[in-house]
Amino acid sequence: MVPSRITVIGAGIIGMSTAAFLQRAGHKVTVIDRVAPGDGCSFGNAGGVAFAEVTPTIHPRILLKIPGWLMDPLGPLTIRWSYLPKALPWFLAAGRNALPDRVRKITAARAALGLRAVSDFETLLQAAKASELLVRQDTIRLYDTEAQYQAEEPDRRAKREYGYETKKLTPGEIAEIEPDLARDFACGAFHGGWYHVRNPKSVVTAIAQEFTRNGGEIILDDVIEVTQEAARAAKIRLKTGGERPLDRLVICAGAYSNFFARQFGDKVLLEAERGYHLVMPDPGITLGRSFSYVRTPMVVTPMDVGLRFAGTDEFAGLDAPPNWKRADVLWHSAKRCLPKLRPIDENVSRWMGRRPGTPDGLPVIGPSRKLGNVWYGFGHSHMGLTWGPTTGRLLSEMLSGTPGNTDLSAFRVDRF
Ligand SMILES: Cc1cc2nc3c(=O)[nH]c(=O)nc-3n(C[C@H](O)[C@H](O)[C@H](O)COP(=O)(O)OP(=O)(O)OC[C@H]3O[C@@H](n4cnc5c(N)ncnc54)[C@H](O)[C@@H]3O)c2cc1C
Repeated sequence: MVPSRITVIGAGIIGMSTAAFLQRAGHKVTVIDRVAPGDGCSFGNAGGVAFAEVTPTIHPRILLKIPGWLMDPLGPLTIRWSYLPKALPWFLAAGRNALPDRVRKITAARAALGLRAVSDFETLLQAAKASELLVRQDTIRLYDTEAQYQAEEPDRRAKREYGYETKKLTPGEIAEIEPDLARDFACGAFHGGWYHVRNPKSVVTAIAQEFTRNGGEIILDDVIEVTQEAARAAKIRLKTGGERPLDRLVICAGAYSNFFARQFGDKVLLEAERGYHLVMPDPGITLGRSFSYVRTPMVVTPMDVGLRFAGTDEFAGLDAPPNWKRADVLWHSAKRCLPKLRPIDENVSRWMGRRPGTPDGLPVIGPSRKLGNVWYGFGHSHMGLTWGPTTGRLLSEMLSGTPGNTDLSAFRVDRF
């Protein structure tokens, strides 16, 4: 392997994991971001290392629910109507990806990315002496009715096919495991061998600190242009006026990555799937593990900053102002599950983040089809924390000429 000089745009979980694995392989790496490591979408996610979630987010059963959700501006999935014409090609492609054959292929690709999620996380966090940020703890899914539980049997079957078992819980067992949960659920599903992180921002910070300790460079600036020469990315122009020559370039710019892919001539369908969180530092209840609730796609996770309620999906483009009512709605769903939850007060914090969403929910991992020295690592949708370290390892293997045996064809940039 010949070591090279590599520039990574984006210091989220994907960019920092990529930079760390490239550095471990012996390359000289510079990361550029306009905000501090982990202050983009990677800041406020639900913290789930959800490698067992093999079924795609958009599948036939969800398609049936979407029209009803779209009518409600505070529902789990919403689109600002003025934005619909722009997002239409994305939605049409998402619909095509919900056909059974595509669902099977996407499921296999998701399972492949999840296979080494935990060990790749451990590699980076152990090196950063921050292993305690990754917590091995089971999780629970809660159902109001037996019919809701039965409707999700295809998901559980897919999990079982890939070796991830779940167990049905009675209301009594739910109460025994988590006494502060409501007593009137019809049943639950217990997922063992699950992991979450204590704080996703701390994870990216720890990886970034280890990267700089080992000689990596992080530049805080906005990349406003990448100039091209002879089918190669030649130079980066920065907002503060500087220019930097490029040897090899990796785009890990999250929901903003299409700004670059489009310039380079690679056609990508990417939308900001905007999600919200609300954190209560002092929720007045005790929760030992994360849980999700079937009626609202939301995850509640105990973190070192307090109890985090995270979820929902809003299509409104990159720049529309946040609708904070969507964050407060998460509290209402959580209150249904945790009757003793304290009311929202001035200590609560709200956040909105832009998931980099592709219509098949799979990331782009691999070389540009147009420029010889450019690679991509973006589009991880709802799963970027989970798949971040593995994406970093896979890109490092590609750029080092030491590919592993993972089939990466589902992640090619020319699939759109
Ligand atoms: C509510 C919510 C809950 C979630 N829960 C989970 C979960 O439980 N588990 C899970 O696996 N995933 C979850 N996710 C998804 C996950 O957070 C994302 O997939 C992931 O953070 C994407 O990481 P990234 O590095 O691609 O993007 P980012 O973290 O956004 O990083 C991209 C970076 O690129 C920088 N950038 C872009 N353009 C430029 C430019 N021109 N110049 C300089 N810098 C630039 C940005 O500033 C940004 O810092 C959740 C997301 C949300 C919103």
